Amino acid sequence: MESLRLTFTEQYYKDACCYSYETTVQDCFQEADENGEKQWLVRLKDTIFYPEGGGQPADRGTLGDVNVFDVQRDDMGIVHYCDGPVEPGSVVRCEIDRERRRDFCRHHSGEHIISGLANSMYGCTNVGFHLNEEYMTLDFDQKLDDRQVAELEKEANQRVLANLPIEIEYYEDETDVPKDYRSKLSLRGKVRIVHIPGVDDCACCGTQCAFTGEIGLIKFIDHITMRGGSRLTAVCGERSYVDYVKRFDQSKAIGAMLSAPADELVSAIAQREKQYEDERQLTIQLRKQINQLYLQSVPTNAGNVLFLLSDSDQSGAKYLAKQLAAMISGVAMIFFPHPRTDGYMFIFTSSKDDAKKMSESLKERLGLKGGGHVHMVQGVTTATTKDIKAICEPIAWTLSMDANEDHDGGRYGN
Ligand SMILES: [Zn+2]
Repeated sequence: MESLRLTFTEQYYKDACCYSYETTVQDCFQEADENGEKQWLVRLKDTIFYPEGGGQPADRGTLGDVNVFDVQRDDMGIVHYCDGPVEPGSVVRCEIDRERRRDFCRHHSGEHIISGLANSMYGCTNVGFHLNEEYMTLDFDQKLDDRQVAELEKEANQRVLANLPIEIEYYEDETDVPKDYRSKLSLRGKVRIVHIPGVDDCACCGTQCAFTGEIGLIKFIDHITMRGGSRLTAVCGERSYVDYVKRFDQSKAIGAMLSAPADELVSAIAQREKQYEDERQLTIQLRKQINQLYLQSVPTNAGNVLFLLSDSDQSGAKYLAKQLAAMISGVAMIFFPHPRTDGYMFIFTSSKDDAKKMSESLKERLGLKGGGHVHMVQGVTTATTKDIKAICEPIAWTLSMDANEDHDGGRYGN
């Protein structure tokens, strides 16, 4: 188990709402980052910058005129990664990105409420927490079903609305803590407990809101089963508002498309799906009937046959080709529009052994590309309607559904 020793003496532990502060620069040295870019590593006498840890990202901000883009803890203390130098020994004004800090506090406090309740309601242990700039994830050691997740979300928001105080308590050693508490880490030395009355007691090294009301709406946006447990993805406060607006706008736009009010979208979509399925079945039936009419129009004594179709799918064309091949003594040649280009696709079939022979003989002139065997060849061609007609009509009885030509039934080639 990971072990952590913290003294909790930093300024951000004394006051999580201290966003501006003056302190002395202890050390500053330049080094290259992994991409060879210059960066300056700064140590301060004390800091309001929270270093990445406990699932919470680092603060950002400025030290005088330079930007702080990362903050990390090492064996010697806290290192501020900056885009310029500051003078060792000088007093510098620290400013942290307060919106970023507040946002992280809301999520971190929200996480404590969710994890505390998951523990008391379902006996789940939080085994992972990760917060980034888009959402936070909470991993639990047990599977939670949809009903439990909905209950947990509702209860968590009740605790937000109750505006409970979030109290920080310090103990010299974990044996001094007079109550049960949650902890993901094995603790050494001083213990910091975040206490939310009636909700949770948890050892923590992150920054917190002062009252649960500051968290704002807690919204779960995803729930999956993972490694025998559950992962919840959630957003809090401003991010919940932004998420709500995005979803509201989307449902409003979908409602306008379906001419349905926002709270009846599911039934409106179900109705559309049924209509679509009914129409799809009708299309299948009509296509079958059209195919039968095509086939009936072919003379019984036809040799080679060309079907030049204006609208077909590959399976429909294959069906036609097989039926045709069984009816005629020659080769059935079906051309139908390619679904993604302006060209045609083709299928040649024959009940004898000459489908491949026919495609080989026309390959050059029609630019046929494809493959198959003696009974069936299929592929694509760049040939135009005019080319296909000019080359195939003289050798095949032709049914052309080309929209640019008046069509009054098939006719023989030679
Ligand atoms: Zn925490």
